[in-house]
Amino acid sequence: MAQAAIIGAGIAGLAAALRLVHKGYQVTVFEKNDYAGGKIHAIEQQGYRFDLGPSLFTLPQLVDELHEMFNHQKVDFSYQAHGTSCHYFWEDQTVFKAPATTENFIKEAAITFQVPEQKIRNYFKESKSKYESTKSVFLEKSLHKASTYFHKDTIKAIAQLPFLGINTTLNTYNERLINPKLIQLFNRYATYNGSSPYQTSAIMSMIPHLEIGLGTYYPDGGMHRISQSLYELAVKVGVEFRFRESVNEIIVQDNKATAIWTTKNSFMAFDVIVSNMDIHPTYKKLLSETKPPETTLEQERSSSALIFYWGIDKKFPELDLHNILFSEDYPAEFEHIFEHKTLFDDPTVYINITSKLSPTDAPDGCENWFVMINAPGDYGQDWEQLVAQSRKNIIAKINRTLNTDLEPLIHTEHILTPQGIERDTSSYRGALYGAASNDKFAAFLRHPNFNSKVKNLYHVGGSVHPGGGIPLCLLSAKITADLIPDAS
Ligand SMILES: Cc1cc2nc3c(=O)[nH]c(=O)nc-3n(C[C@H](O)[C@H](O)[C@H](O)COP(=O)(O)OP(=O)(O)OC[C@H]3O[C@@H](n4cnc5c(N)ncnc54)[C@H](O)[C@@H]3O)c2cc1C
Repeated sequence: MAQAAIIGAGIAGLAAALRLVHKGYQVTVFEKNDYAGGKIHAIEQQGYRFDLGPSLFTLPQLVDELHEMFNHQKVDFSYQAHGTSCHYFWEDQTVFKAPATTENFIKEAAITFQVPEQKIRNYFKESKSKYESTKSVFLEKSLHKASTYFHKDTIKAIAQLPFLGINTTLNTYNERLINPKLIQLFNRYATYNGSSPYQTSAIMSMIPHLEIGLGTYYPDGGMHRISQSLYELAVKVGVEFRFRESVNEIIVQDNKATAIWTTKNSFMAFDVIVSNMDIHPTYKKLLSETKPPETTLEQERSSSALIFYWGIDKKFPELDLHNILFSEDYPAEFEHIFEHKTLFDDPTVYINITSKLSPTDAPDGCENWFVMINAPGDYGQDWEQLVAQSRKNIIAKINRTLNTDLEPLIHTEHILTPQGIERDTSSYRGALYGAASNDKFAAFLRHPNFNSKVKNLYHVGGSVHPGGGIPLCLLSAKITADLIPDAS
């Protein structure tokens, strides 16, 4: 039986493992941690459960598709839509409880922000059209195979390029929404792939359609169920997991990946090797004899995050599953992150509270707060000092916006920094989404899902095509599996 190795049990590694089993391979996954899921992991602390990484779940059908591939195996995985997409707060006490469907969003936003409904409706219409005309080319196919460019969808997408806003920034495009708060709300979508709205192109205005038009979901049992259910499925269909076993080297002979060395001193030969490790350390640490594609590796990295996981000894009825407390100076916040590589003293604060939907995630009368601000990657800053200062700034921001006194309510605390994200997942500089999309050609600069210099070596995950975030990582595994021949 043909043998495949997967390096890393992140969401993309798990999806690739399942797809290769489906193609007839015997699959072994090597994972440096003692758990599967990579960034999609969870902890429990003093009666609180916290999802450590992602909180927003879109395109759930991509997870369903993997479960359906092995529909004789029953692994619990279910999710629900939520009636509101997010509660947005500003310090002047403006609150927008954004509905989760496009038409309701348009109606409510028009009232709250005093903007004509038609302007917002047109925005969503264009958002949908951008998403639909580009997804099959930019998200579902390899951009690095000639066959993609002869496909009718590609020809259609290329014809659309002048209308996608590739030469305009997202912020400039959003200015059509008149009201500064509504512009800020739509600018925030740049952060969904770790970019700045003042640099990324207006093509990102397709994301509101993905979130509001196609909907966001909450997995029963929390975000961790996404990775856990795929791991359970993989075990059931025969994937072998070797935890606490890092791959140290990919052996290349005659330009062909043939074997791996691991930290347990195992040398194992494989027919196919798929790296779910970030592309930067894959080249720098595992492929030291192979000339790296420097332009790709030097691409600006996406933002990272500073996250406080707080057990809160009170319920806040004004808060929902997803909440945003906006900075008073959004351009300065992004300038601090991307240009000065530091944290702004009035950050936009995201609070995710899963106990709103899963009450057992917190003790009675309490809530589990995931409090995140966007942060630069790790460039050697003094994180101890930045964390201490930001903790004060975040608490002050929450106090001002929600008229509360938070510090005495914090029961328990866990902190994750960009350094911690890199330590836990090998993500270069702790980037959440691989390369940033601040460059308009970023989509074309991402590393392909195959290796043009090393045969039998493939790449999946957030640092390669088509990019970061759960749906794109799942699509990277799908594109990759399509490139790998069936096992003979
Ligand atoms: C705080 C945070 C919030 C986020 N929010 C969202 C969100 O709301 N929605 C969303 O869609 N996405 C979100 N993301 C992004 C999303 O989590 C990632 O894009 C996705 O999970 C990345 O998956 P991956 O498979 O590429 O890699 P990872 O999850 O990074 O997994 C890589 C795995 O490889 C292992 N590994 C690395 N090197 C080796 C080696 N040499 N040998 C063996 N194992 C190795 C690592 O230990 C890790 O388990 C967020 C991420 C973070 C951190």
